[in-house]
Amino acid sequence: MLGRHTLSMTGSKTDTRVMAITADERTGTVTLTIDGRDVTAAEGSTIWSAAKAAGIDIPVLCHDERYDPVGVCRMCVVDVGAPAFAAACVRACENGMQVQTSTPELERSRATLVELLLADQPDRERDPKQSTTGDNELLALADRLGVDRPDDLVAGSGRGIDVSSPVISVDHDACILCDRCVRACDDIQGNDVIGRSGKGYSTRIAFDLNDLMADSSCVSCGECVAACPTGALTNKPIHDVPIRPRSELDAVDTVCPYCGVGCALTYYVDRERGAIAFAEGREQPGSHGRLCVKGRYGWDYAASPQRLTVPLIRREESYPKGPLSADVRGDMASGNGSANNGNGKGKRKKPGGLVDYGEVLPHFREATWDEALDLVARRLSEIHARGGPAAIAGFGSAKCSNEEAYLFQKLIRTGFHTNNVDHCTRLCHASSVSALFEGIGSGAVSTTYGDIANAEVAIVTGSNSTANHPVASSFFKQAKRNGTTIIYVDPRADKMADHADIYCQLKPGTDVAFYNGIMHEVIRLDLVDHDYIANRTSNYEALAKTVADYPPERAEQITGVPADMIRRVARVWGKARAGIIYWGMGISQHTTGTDNARCLIALCAITGNIGKQGSGLHPLRGQNNVQGASDMGLIPMFYPDYQKADDPDVKARFEAAWGTSDLDPKRGLTVTEIMGSALKGGVRGMYMLGENPFLSDPNINKVRKALSALEFLVVQDIFLTETAEFADVILPASSYLEKDGTYTNTDRRVQLGHKVLDTPGQARVDWEVVQDIANRIGLAWNYESPREIFDEMVSVIPSYTNLTYDNLGLTGKLYPNPDPEHSDGIVVMFGDKFNTNDGLAHLVPAEWLPAKELPDEDYPFVLNTGRMLEHWHTGSMTRRSYALDAIAPQALVYIHPDDAAALGLADGDLARVTSRRGSIELATRVSHREGRGNCFIPFHFREAAANLLTIDEIDPFGKIPEFKFCAVRIERAGQADG
Ligand code: SF4
Ligand code: SF4
Repeated sequence: MLGRHTLSMTGSKTDTRVMAITADERTGTVTLTIDGRDVTAAEGSTIWSAAKAAGIDIPVLCHDERYDPVGVCRMCVVDVGAPAFAAACVRACENGMQVQTSTPELERSRATLVELLLADQPDRERDPKQSTTGDNELLALADRLGVDRPDDLVAGSGRGIDVSSPVISVDHDACILCDRCVRACDDIQGNDVIGRSGKGYSTRIAFDLNDLMADSSCVSCGECVAACPTGALTNKPIHDVPIRPRSELDAVDTVCPYCGVGCALTYYVDRERGAIAFAEGREQPGSHGRLCVKGRYGWDYAASPQRLTVPLIRREESYPKGPLSADVRGDMASGNGSANNGNGKGKRKKPGGLVDYGEVLPHFREATWDEALDLVARRLSEIHARGGPAAIAGFGSAKCSNEEAYLFQKLIRTGFHTNNVDHCTRLCHASSVSALFEGIGSGAVSTTYGDIANAEVAIVTGSNSTANHPVASSFFKQAKRNGTTIIYVDPRADKMADHADIYCQLKPGTDVAFYNGIMHEVIRLDLVDHDYIANRTSNYEALAKTVADYPPERAEQITGVPADMIRRVARVWGKARAGIIYWGMGISQHTTGTDNARCLIALCAITGNIGKQGSGLHPLRGQNNVQGASDMGLIPMFYPDYQKADDPDVKARFEAAWGTSDLDPKRGLTVTEIMGSALKGGVRGMYMLGENPFLSDPNINKVRKALSALEFLVVQDIFLTETAEFADVILPASSYLEKDGTYTNTDRRVQLGHKVLDTPGQARVDWEVVQDIANRIGLAWNYESPREIFDEMVSVIPSYTNLTYDNLGLTGKLYPNPDPEHSDGIVVMFGDKFNTNDGLAHLVPAEWLPAKELPDEDYPFVLNTGRMLEHWHTGSMTRRSYALDAIAPQALVYIHPDDAAALGLADGDLARVTSRRGSIELATRVSHREGRGNCFIPFHFREAAANLLTIDEIDPFGKIPEFKFCAVRIERAGQADG
């Protein structure tokens, strides 16, 4: 019997002629002959890439252009006239080289290698649940070379299979040890999970310390599956439906619907089943074919049997209206993950994490679209006629397309003459936008996350980017490996801390003191850019005066970060040739959020770090289209393109553009202000498109009262959300997968999303529903397609000038973009001047202020809330995704080990977390990533709704709530199950 024929690393990386450049190659190119053809290639090119560029295909197994070549499989060997064949994937081209790629001898060598590898391959039929997308490169190569699997050999080595992961099957017997998965996991995603274990014949890939995949630190990004050439790593079919070969599936190119990174992907659709079979990343400058677990495995929510498929109207007998399901009613407590309004009495069983349809739907009856839309138009018009514009408000959605966001705000503004229109940007980066507008005259990023490759140093602050922007974080990790110094600043030692050169674990809510301390030291050491300050900024003296009061020792007292570390950060940042600051909601979601962002802007500006390659400001935007929805004017203080709502000239311009004469002359109310107004009887009618404020807004008890107080609420959504329980009319909407439209990512990249599936039942595409309501209240709209809406919106959004559906192409374009036909768009903005009136960056000093609700004897812990990798916001999509729910099914409170020990809590124990506003019970996760005295709760879980605890204090400028700081008490409530 033949032995194990996996690939050997021996000798591959040590070829001394790899990347050799001859002396006469000073022109930057070399000329050689490949299979008798003259080929010119860039100097340093490998034979394999030169041949590929010339249309000559050299087979490979271990190689993929995205990874550093290792030359272990020897499948790509070519004849260069030397005594030994050369591996084309690593051997550099040389001037005058004569290369043969497919002589009979070479083909014999390849066939022998393939035969040996096939000898150990397992029977492909042995696990029908494993996917076979037809991508097995080894089998394809065998076919090409006419090699049959020897049938007198025993299949497999018995190294085993690992099906522990909910999404990935591992068949060690099919592994040829090419290390593509290792390089994909390490070099591309920066997850560093896969290595090797064992010796000789029993050598196999290993997850961490040879753990089962599900027990390892694997984050289920699937990059290793995409890399595997043999089917050793395969996607498990979602819902156990076998995946048909790729050739039998339809490929639809679109973008991911989750985070602001907006990864480009392709869905492979099984048209016979009417369902997606699998997803795959595709090339685009901002994602390079990478995906995270949500993008790769989290799409089946659209096919949930819980989709709303018919319009619903509240039954007469269900008035007076009241919140319906137990959790939403908020008057019952439970064990193992649920919320209560009071002191934890009246326990009941966990409800399963989703709205109980059986409890809620009986209060609604099915209606026709005409009946439902007529009722919506009539009731909103009545309220408007009675209460005036101030009585109406609308929440749009950052999950909807640009076209839908544009139409929604236009409906509220032209149909109800109010600027009371907002969306979840208020809950994520409103303070960043407020500081950016004040400082540099633009709310968008000044450079991309990919530009980190050109930065000497990057500060990543208040951002759990490995969970919230996983693919962007892979760019950060790659940059670090290539020499960029990463400084990570966050109260939680999230995974970015593992990759950082310097990690500063500051106390929550002390960002202003920290950055003032850094600026103090940068100025003291004279590391500022005097020319830049003189020519590009204003108000430097006031800033310098303020930060003079924050020497590192004082900053240490406030922040807990050692003074020497603050000095070190200042030196590293101040001396760097180019630096970028990336920040997340750890900066913005504070009552001092605008001040926090002001400090980041000032730190960049005084060191000359805005407007050149590898430098700049980048608030990492949360939702897939929160940048676009904001650009579209889905905000109460701005018309599209951030044109001030209270500027008479702007108002006149939009009245002319929209053919109306009575736009609201003043700013509208924000998300939290609308809820406050509803409580006082101001706002009485609301149109809610795809938002779920019951779970996403702070202080749920207050939201509950506000929603209950509304006279009329129409909710347009794909599921029965907690907010929909308060509705008078529910309109079944389209998921992202069911429509065309554009989406703008955090980099300012405008991308086309394409329809993948049909809407279920009578559910309709959102922009059409908005148009139908508009027509029913007297607006004469007749848009026929998203393309037509896009063209109109570009005409009123100067930043999007030149963009068309046709020139966005497969990879989208950045805005601004003077020449989209030939350019990807402008990466680095503000090279000469800023968008402020005087073209200067306005430095705004900020004094540190403590949070509004500090810990005390009764509530000694600081609660921080946020997202986790596997879930999205209020969980309505991700908790209906099989894979994401299977990987992360449970609400958790993360507590430092010492705090857990002092509280008598072990991993999995039930903890009760109580603030002055409510109490929830959920499982404990003992975590060394938390700071002492702090705890973290993701806000995705209705049965343990973090926002029952949060405080609704807001930042005075951006009006963003304080999601990152309130005082809580933690107690043991029960023992771990089992
Ligand atoms: S799924 Fe991603 S994290 Fe897990 S082993 Fe594969 S590449 Fe690494
Ligand atoms: S990083 Fe964001 S956009 Fe990319 S796949 Fe993950 S959730 Fe989707």
